[in-house]
Amino acid sequence: MGDRVILVLLDGLRFDVARDGMGYLGHWVETGQANLFSVKAELPTLSRPLYEVLLTGTPVSVNGIGANDMVRLSHQQSVFHLAIAAGLTTAAAAYAWFSELYNRAPFEPWRDRDQHDPTLPIQHGRFYWADDYPDSHLFADAEMLRQAHNPDFMLVHPMGIDHAGHRYGADTAQYRGSALVADSLLAHYVPRWRAAGYRLLITADHGMNADGQHGGTLPAVRDVPLFVMGPDSAIAETDTPLSQLAIAPLICQWLGISPAPAMRSPLPDAAALTV
Ligand SMILES: [Zn+2]
Repeated sequence: MGDRVILVLLDGLRFDVARDGMGYLGHWVETGQANLFSVKAELPTLSRPLYEVLLTGTPVSVNGIGANDMVRLSHQQSVFHLAIAAGLTTAAAAYAWFSELYNRAPFEPWRDRDQHDPTLPIQHGRFYWADDYPDSHLFADAEMLRQAHNPDFMLVHPMGIDHAGHRYGADTAQYRGSALVADSLLAHYVPRWRAAGYRLLITADHGMNADGQHGGTLPAVRDVPLFVMGPDSAIAETDTPLSQLAIAPLICQWLGISPAPAMRSPLPDAAALTV
C-alpha cells in the first residue's frame, strides 16, 4: 500500500528564484520538514518535451516528444497509465498539452476542458489553454478536483511563472513576483494537502533566461527546484543534482506501483529520497 502523491509543476521556475524568492516553501525547508533539491532538466528545455519526461521518466530520444508543436498522444506508460492500471484514482488541473499527451489529441476546448472518465489515464481533469490563465484559479481547480474525487495521484500545473518570464524576461520584478504569487498560493493549499496525508513534490519543467526564453542548455533554463514534503521528514540531503528522469519512478515508488520498464532512475541519490 503506497502513499498518495500530489505533483505541483510550476511551469518555468528556475532554481535560484525558487530558492531565494519563495519564503513560504523556504520555511518548510528551514524547519526540517521539507527538502530542496536541484534537478537537472532534460533537453531540450521546452515544455511539452519535459511534461513527457516528468510523467514518463523517459528522455526525448526514447519518447519522441522533441518539440512543443508535436501534438499526439504519448507512446509511453506514464505515471497516470500505471496508476489507473493499479486501480488508483488520478486527477489533473493542468495545461491542455497534458490532455493531449495522455487523454485525447488534439485538444478541443468545448469537449476536453472538463473530463471525467475512469478509463482515461487522467480520470478527472480540468484543463486550460490560455497561457495567462490565473494561477489562483488553477489551484482552486485542483482543490475542487481533490475534494470531489479524492485522487491517489494529482498533477497541479499553473503557468503564471512561465508566462511572466516570456513577457518580461527572468531578471525582472515581474518574473520574481510571479514566483512569489505561487509561493503565497501554496500557503493556502500545502497545509490542506499535508493534513490529508499527501506526499508533495513541487518542481518545474525548465527555467527561464534573461531573454524571456528557454530551450537551450545553460543553467538558467536547466536548473530547476524540487521541494519534497512527506508525512515523515527524515529525507536524506544530497548536493548532487537529481536527474529529471528520476521523478516519475520516484512517484511510482511512493504510490506503491511498479515503474514502467522504460523508466530509468539513473542516480543512486533517488533512492535516498524514498525513505
Ligand atoms: Zn515557456
